[in-house]
Amino acid sequence: MDAAPRRCHRGFVTRAIDADYLVVGAGATGMAFVDALTDHADVRVAVVDRRHSVSGHWLEAYSFVRLHQASAFYGVASTLLGGGRLQQNGPEEGLQERATQSEICAYYERVLERMVGSGRVELFPNCEYVGDRTVVSRVSGQRYEVSERCRVVDARYLAPTIPAESPPPFHIGDDARVLPVNALPRLEEAPSQYVVVGSGKTATDACIWLLSRGVDPDAICWVRPRDPWMLNRAVVQPDPAVFLGMVADTMQAAEVASSLEDLFLRLEDAGVMLRIDRAVTPTMAKAPTLALWELEQLRTVQNVVRRGHLTSVDRGRLTFADGSVAVADDAVVAHCAADGLRSRPLVPVWRTEAITLQPIRAGFPCFGAALVGYVEATREDDEEKNRLCPPSPYGNSLAQWARMTVLGAQAARAFSTEPDIKDWSDEVALNPARIPPGHAGSAALDEARDRLARHSRSGLARLAELS
Ligand SMILES: Cc1cc2nc3c(=O)[nH]c(=O)nc-3n(C[C@H](O)[C@H](O)[C@H](O)COP(=O)(O)OP(=O)(O)OC[C@H]3O[C@@H](n4cnc5c(N)ncnc54)[C@H](O)[C@@H]3O)c2cc1C
Repeated sequence: MDAAPRRCHRGFVTRAIDADYLVVGAGATGMAFVDALTDHADVRVAVVDRRHSVSGHWLEAYSFVRLHQASAFYGVASTLLGGGRLQQNGPEEGLQERATQSEICAYYERVLERMVGSGRVELFPNCEYVGDRTVVSRVSGQRYEVSERCRVVDARYLAPTIPAESPPPFHIGDDARVLPVNALPRLEEAPSQYVVVGSGKTATDACIWLLSRGVDPDAICWVRPRDPWMLNRAVVQPDPAVFLGMVADTMQAAEVASSLEDLFLRLEDAGVMLRIDRAVTPTMAKAPTLALWELEQLRTVQNVVRRGHLTSVDRGRLTFADGSVAVADDAVVAHCAADGLRSRPLVPVWRTEAITLQPIRAGFPCFGAALVGYVEATREDDEEKNRLCPPSPYGNSLAQWARMTVLGAQAARAFSTEPDIKDWSDEVALNPARIPPGHAGSAALDEARDRLARHSRSGLARLAELS
């Protein structure tokens, strides 16, 4: 794929990459796009990433992270992650496996091998896309260019920021011990107190991990600027009766909800949403999944600081806009406050300058990127492709979660009207709402579909009003 040198630049010969697509980002979305595209079109793809290999943010994630939902919903369309296996023991027995960091990275390496073996995909690791169709190696300084006919694919538009790579969003005094969450398993001496800073999945993982290592719940101070709603993992499973039952519950709750707060309380009653503290009304709805055993453990952490965002950490003291809170002098502060789900403006997926990967069906970034890859492979006209795949945002506030659900449902209706896309998406395990071909069916599935048919229209209309 690497063609003849074209000209000199600062002593380096700029090489032309001869490819039909230049994919910027070899994380989950870039890999899902390339896999679906190359499985359905005879094209040549160059994938660049500033990291040393494929797998995106997982390469730098904390060691105790796992997917928060089923492995089957994650990865690429051609290759099932986790083999569809159920957990055989432990507190999540009967639920789908959730891959660990090392399993995810090993999976993407295998997927890369298959892609490269096809002779149509080449990875340019440690290479930065600097704009203007130009890529520069961060190791050798080598520059590469792609021609005007090569389509640029932005597979980093919604890439998460992670604590290991982003400084904490608060000031750190000289004598304070602030560490990214990744450093917790490498501590050599136990402090008398841990301070966990953050409201999302990383912070909940940190608390659960500390508790699993025998830390007393009273030795944890949890700075939680917002309280989160989280999805009950048991109802986000790759079983159509379970998943569609959850969507039907959501529509039924929305239909009669008097406000967004009321909607989420109804979803809690229906076993769909969870909150850590039943005395507090959450304002955050990024809605990762959580298991009931995790919820129970999180509730044992009673020292929760709700003073908004932390502005500064000093030895023995946490400072907020409205005052300060004393902590132990030797407290270790775990930074878990990065933006794991980015909130950026929606843009059309297909534009002249780039194909910008975003979720299509609500959430599920891997399915969205794979769908865009399939549609790109099978259609010519960008306007038509944009009509079939309008993007949907991630949730953050309750209103944004409602908007995500409405836009995601509209998008699912748009792409499902095309028979070939419907057939493809029913085959793909990444699609949470599919009924696989040959599925035996069940009374529970019939019941869920019946409720969906009766409540979707009015539920979505009400959600649109509320958002
Ligand atoms: C801890 C954590 C757990 C999560 N768990 C889940 C989960 O269970 N399920 C789920 O659906 N989502 C989950 N997410 C959400 C996340 O959005 C998805 O996991 C997904 O991996 C994001 O993929 P991405 O391709 O957008 O980003 P990334 O994986 O970050 O990939 C983007 C890549 O682009 C590269 N890049 C950026 N700019 C450039 C440039 N200029 N030049 C070259 N390369 C560049 C980066 O190096 C990066 O490797 C989680 C997020 C976090 C932080």
